[in-house]
Amino acid sequence: MKLPKGLLALTLGGAALLSAAPGPGRPVPAAPSGGSLALIRVSLGATTSDAVPARLRLDVRQELGTCLLALADRGDLAALRRRGVRFTVVDRNAARREYLLVETSRPGALESLRSAGRAVAVEPGTAVFWTDEGHPAEAVPAGLPRKALAARTVPTRPRRLATAAAAPLPVAAQDPFIEAIVANVSPANLAARVQTLPDLGTRYASTTNCEAAGEALYAAFAALGLDDVHFESFAFSAYTSRNVVAEKTGETFPDDILIICSHYDSTSPASTRLTDAPGADDNASGMAAVLEAARVLAAHPLDYTVRFVAFSAEEWGLYGSRAYAAAARGAGEAIRGVLNLDMIGYADAAPEDLQVFVNQDSAWLADLFVAAGPRYGPVTAVKVVDPSIIYSDHSPFWDNGYAAFMAIEDYPLANPYYHRTTDTLATLDQAFFAACARASVGLLAELAQPIKAGHPRAPARLTADWDSYSSLFTTLSVVNLEWTAQPDAAGYNIYRTSTPHLGFVKINGEPVTGTSYADETVVAGGEYCYALTAVGPTGLESNRSRDNVWSGPLASPASWLRRIGPSLLRGIH
Ligand SMILES: [Zn+2]
Repeated sequence: MKLPKGLLALTLGGAALLSAAPGPGRPVPAAPSGGSLALIRVSLGATTSDAVPARLRLDVRQELGTCLLALADRGDLAALRRRGVRFTVVDRNAARREYLLVETSRPGALESLRSAGRAVAVEPGTAVFWTDEGHPAEAVPAGLPRKALAARTVPTRPRRLATAAAAPLPVAAQDPFIEAIVANVSPANLAARVQTLPDLGTRYASTTNCEAAGEALYAAFAALGLDDVHFESFAFSAYTSRNVVAEKTGETFPDDILIICSHYDSTSPASTRLTDAPGADDNASGMAAVLEAARVLAAHPLDYTVRFVAFSAEEWGLYGSRAYAAAARGAGEAIRGVLNLDMIGYADAAPEDLQVFVNQDSAWLADLFVAAGPRYGPVTAVKVVDPSIIYSDHSPFWDNGYAAFMAIEDYPLANPYYHRTTDTLATLDQAFFAACARASVGLLAELAQPIKAGHPRAPARLTADWDSYSSLFTTLSVVNLEWTAQPDAAGYNIYRTSTPHLGFVKINGEPVTGTSYADETVVAGGEYCYALTAVGPTGLESNRSRDNVWSGPLASPASWLRRIGPSLLRGIH
């Protein structure tokens, strides 16, 4: 049978989920009438999955390791009670209120937060903070990592059961072409670029100095010969600031976007931040690596579009990335992966490793970094899946359904100069910093796929359809692949994996001629991901086509039919 693709997307993980896609935020009522809006905490215990809040179309604003934070009116609260969902009310007057999430694992942090406004712990190390008057970002004590609550609904989906099996290693072998790009990353350049930012004075967002730093970054990107550089303004508290967005447009898949980003604003204690906040590790280090990535990739045509983004007002609560990620989602941009570098230059141990924080949907991106680290750094990258690590610019991308990671030298933080006037270039470990930058550039290049002269171009259009033939005794499944002919191809290789983005294995023998292939080695209920390469007349192989994820029908056809209902079966044969 052949099923419409849109339906299949609803069955990932075996549960129909009608509100998995991010929806528009609930409009805040002008005057609360017939019920007020509350901020609630919904427990995600062993007995509660996020399937129920999703089915209720609850206005979830933050997903954490142990709970969801959501805005709920009286009707929502009644529906949650009816279904026996455990929740607590964090604040009864959520209409028009601004909230910050604040990291409170440091001893005394929660107490200092409570002396500055209203604070409710929602899980160990995380509190919601607000003030009855004024903006909470002005009141929150300096030194505590914070995140402004998302301005609209974030997508939620049932969590997949944690699998004990290690992710398959990416199949890509050491690529000498990418090694040559990575070898161009210059430790001297990195150090010089770090120093240019502290040289400008403070970069505390809201100051004119911070805006001058944005202009310096604009000029630095503009000097690299990219396709576009522009500012994007956004508001926070009583101020505005600008993200700097530079782009190298992809030749083959221009609408598919990879982002490497960091924040350029900085901070220090309240008494000094308006005049002195060098922020060398936090986060001139990440910014220098992003600039260096742009410099070494600028010369090479790429399959995918790469954006190099410098965010502002991260230290105020991720305001720059919050505005950027929400706008990208609003415009329907296909951001395939976000590499957020935040503090990659300080080493408190030898050898230092790099921690890569992801949520469940982004785990593949960390798996790729774990593989790329030793190859291009060399540096050991350690994957940590924890949706509660939200205090950097990757988090708003998670909130908008995009895959993203944060790479950081240590978390919990080990840099004693963090957010102090002593966070200077002299405290950085140049070798570790350069290794982190090279590993990041290597991963980005692998993802963006430099186009090699003399090789065929990557095939652009690949479609996959499932067919299943049932008799009384057996069911035969087959995935039919079709693609558009690539003019410089003499044949094609087909790669397949059951783990999207990772571990592709070639499934054909000799290159396939023609533009179709029937994969008869699939099993009903499996999830398959295909990619295609073109093989030239002399045997040179192209980059891979875009991944094409194909999910088979549920294992039991009967339950599948019950789930989607007879009215949806038209067109299925
Ligand atoms: Zn930072």
